[in-house]
Amino acid sequence: MLTITNISKTYEHQPLLTGVSFSVDAGETVCLLGASGSGKSTLLRIIAGLESPEAGRVLWDGIDLAPTPPHARDFGLVFQDYALFPHLTVFDNVAFGLRMRNLPKSEIQKRVDESLDLITMCGFESRRVTELSGGEQQRVALARALATHPRLLMFDEPLGALDRSLKEDLLNELRAILHRTNIPAIYVTHDQEEAFALADRVLLLHEGTI
Ligand code: ADP
Ligand code: MG
Repeated sequence: MLTITNISKTYEHQPLLTGVSFSVDAGETVCLLGASGSGKSTLLRIIAGLESPEAGRVLWDGIDLAPTPPHARDFGLVFQDYALFPHLTVFDNVAFGLRMRNLPKSEIQKRVDESLDLITMCGFESRRVTELSGGEQQRVALARALATHPRLLMFDEPLGALDRSLKEDLLNELRAILHRTNIPAIYVTHDQEEAFALADRVLLLHEGTI
């Protein structure tokens, strides 16, 4: 599974992460809780391979992922600013990563059906994503990540923009989906309630360490 050892990152001579280490076990949902500016998004970008640390390693089953580019890591990302493609339908948004992988048409259809079923949005295939509510858009973003059958899911404050009751509903739904699919996940938030509602384990990121 995923192991992070001694990750350090400095921006403009300011140390942000100073020796971050943790691991995520099979099927486990880990919430990374930290104040705004504590380095949560930076840490996720390092795990995703979108940024390199000055020190430390990101390992999967003991193998260092440093030489593995982001798209080859098989990690699904649902980021706050990782928006859907507004000019595409729900189907085409969910199918996007599958077409990038050149999967056969029948397999793409099967995976889109299966992912929309998981988020209970069957029948929305031909809708434009601009015709969806904020909550529905975040569920489609989740379906897009699930469709690629990732070995790890990462969420960066995905519910930030939604109101409270909708947030609670989506958290419950997400918790159920993560347990049903058994995909390990890292969920980043500054919201303590959100973290405790979702996590099997909560890690506090404070002053650069866990
Ligand atoms: P969080 O997600 O916990 O709010 P971030 O990881 O986004 O924290 O950012 C933590 C700090 O690192 C912020 O003070 C931010 O200004 C700084 N930072 C993030 N990315 C960069 C960058 N590319 N260049 C310089 N500073 C950055
Ligand atoms: Mg952030």
